[in-house]
Amino acid sequence: MTYWPSVVVATPAHSGLAGPLTYRSEQPLAAGNLVRVPLGAREVLGIVWSCPSDPPADCSEEQLRPVSAVLDGLMPLGDGWRQLVAFAARYYQRGLGEMALSVLPPALRDLDNTQLARRLKRLAKVNGSAACPETPVSRPQASAEQQQVLDALGTLDRPALLYGSTGSGKTEVYLRATEQVLQDDPAAQVLVLVPEINLTPQLEERFRQRFEPRHGSAALVSLHSGMTPAQRLQAWLAAHAGTARIVLGTRMAIFASLPGLRLIVVDEEHDPSYKSQEGARYSARDLAVYRAKVESDRGPHPCRVILGSATPSLESWHAAEQGRYRRLAMPGRIGGGELPRLRLVDMNHQPKGATLSPPLLAAMEERIARGEQCLVLLNRRGYAPVLSCDACAWKSQCPHCSAFQVFHKLDRTLRCHHCGFTRRVPRACPDCGNLDIAPIGRGTEQIEEQLAGLLSQAVRPDGTPARVARMDADTTRTKGSLEQQLQALHEGEVDVLVGTQMVAKGHDFRRITLVAGLNVDAALFASDYRAPERLFALLMQAAGRAGRDAGHSGHSEMWVQTWHPTHPLFAALKKHDYPAFAAEQLAEREAAAMPPFGYQALLRADARTQDAAQAYLNGVADAAADLPGRDEVTLYPAVPLPIQRVANVERAQMLVESHSRQALQRFLWAWQPLLLQGRSLPEARGLIRFAVDVDPLAV
Ligand code: ADP
Ligand code: ZN
Ligand code: ZN
Repeated sequence: MTYWPSVVVATPAHSGLAGPLTYRSEQPLAAGNLVRVPLGAREVLGIVWSCPSDPPADCSEEQLRPVSAVLDGLMPLGDGWRQLVAFAARYYQRGLGEMALSVLPPALRDLDNTQLARRLKRLAKVNGSAACPETPVSRPQASAEQQQVLDALGTLDRPALLYGSTGSGKTEVYLRATEQVLQDDPAAQVLVLVPEINLTPQLEERFRQRFEPRHGSAALVSLHSGMTPAQRLQAWLAAHAGTARIVLGTRMAIFASLPGLRLIVVDEEHDPSYKSQEGARYSARDLAVYRAKVESDRGPHPCRVILGSATPSLESWHAAEQGRYRRLAMPGRIGGGELPRLRLVDMNHQPKGATLSPPLLAAMEERIARGEQCLVLLNRRGYAPVLSCDACAWKSQCPHCSAFQVFHKLDRTLRCHHCGFTRRVPRACPDCGNLDIAPIGRGTEQIEEQLAGLLSQAVRPDGTPARVARMDADTTRTKGSLEQQLQALHEGEVDVLVGTQMVAKGHDFRRITLVAGLNVDAALFASDYRAPERLFALLMQAAGRAGRDAGHSGHSEMWVQTWHPTHPLFAALKKHDYPAFAAEQLAEREAAAMPPFGYQALLRADARTQDAAQAYLNGVADAAADLPGRDEVTLYPAVPLPIQRVANVERAQMLVESHSRQALQRFLWAWQPLLLQGRSLPEARGLIRFAVDVDPLAV
């Protein structure tokens, strides 16, 4: 008998949002089977979406090509997984094939049945080795707040927003909730998402300690982009086969195949890195909520979702206010430690040109003398953001981008943080020969250097001089370097740590009693309406690194140097009053019909010239005049991106807004064919690509 499977393949970019293709097969195939099929002259990996026994109406049987091979050693991808992928493709305006194939591990593409069998065998072997279900596991007694939350989680009928202070023991709640799920059902699986690869080792360690003794080392796998293709494949297979009970990963892990999924945790749910900024621009946090619902609707067991944060996104906060999410609060810190007191330094009253104000330096010296640690946060790496010539107008402009190359003093380079273009620092001004070219502005390298000088007289309790270190993307590039640096900090080898936002997140530091934020003012007046929300979250997160040990917490402080100390954001920060801050921001957003009260998408265009990029956008907007639903959306004029040229590509975007999510979705789908046609507009010659970004984070 002959079957006519419709198969999803990674469709080429020019075919738009094409659906599945039909093939023929002499055996019945299950939906979710992985197959290899001919596509043009190539053979590609595909996923069977359905497998009817009737030939398709619009095509003669002979035209359809046969499926080349079936990866039948592999269990089919589940209905829930396929539903998730189909939803993501639809919602984020991508082709089904593009979406589905791009979230599978790339190494799956070249796998045959023999190799697959070998890998699955290895999985089965590892699993048997270390598990020991009789073993008692040591864990702290849950606090009253934690217990209340855990009880509430047990009967949850909607997503939980775990609103817990930094240091309130959210991670312990994730561990307990996981324990509960694994214990109730031998096939259950848990997915834990973290915003950054940097945070995975620490969390992985805590999960290993808790679950390895009882469930074996194979029960926990990580999934993130720092893994080799072979590691990623092995972890993916472990999740798909059910050997991995816990999957811990970054946003990509939301697409892991997890047939027994019962709990999804999204830690630091407010973090922007949950939104993908390339390819299919999905939000892993939003998909987590969708996925949990799908799994609950399908199965006999509910799948719960916990979104955790000390500073929830305004979207999630609003959903909790409306009752769509259940807010579970843990306001206290474990051990009763207090949140640090806010100290604002009014830079209008400090010595002219001082980067680090005298009172801040004095406070740091005091800490050092007591054997406590300080954290200094500056969100810009390198030595100085630009190098400039006094005698003429020369600046270290990147030749490929509309941005400056950053001066890195340690290796004497100018580096573009957008395209990566690097060159040696010139000895003299390339334009006029002036020898006196100088850095303007400050980066972490420079603050580290200045602090080492300014604190050279500071001494530790044992009489030795203070030690300053730096942690940013530059110092943590090589494998293992981040762990080493964190270790040094934990062991007290460092007194003052200077770093980018990387140091503000998640880490459980014990002896930090002073956190200082430098150069935060730009975010107070940024054109990006989400900038205050981000700044508030960043400062609260950073403050959360201080005073985690109750022994020191009484005098822990968060210092912020600002030229605008009366800004309302600081008033809320001073009281650690996230609800007040959120209420004020939400009121502003509502008045302006901004998200979460309105819905947005961006149409972005990359081209050889800015004119072509904008002509394309304006052209397709004009062409949409008669589309159904056009009157329910607002199309704004095309504008260049804030950094309009990167790697010699000109970038422009158009904002699309609607009062209704459905109306926006309807319009975008109707618009897609015109977006493809628009590429042949004569005035858009030079267009390289376009992309739709639904629920964009930066507008
Ligand atoms: P959060 O994730 O909310 O910032 P953590 O879960 O990291 O907080 O907890 C902060 C610290 O308190 C950690 O060192 C953790 O081991 C400890 N801790 C958490 N819960 C308890 C508890 N119930 N009893 C004792 N210590 C706890
Ligand atoms: Zn010059
Ligand atoms: Zn560049």
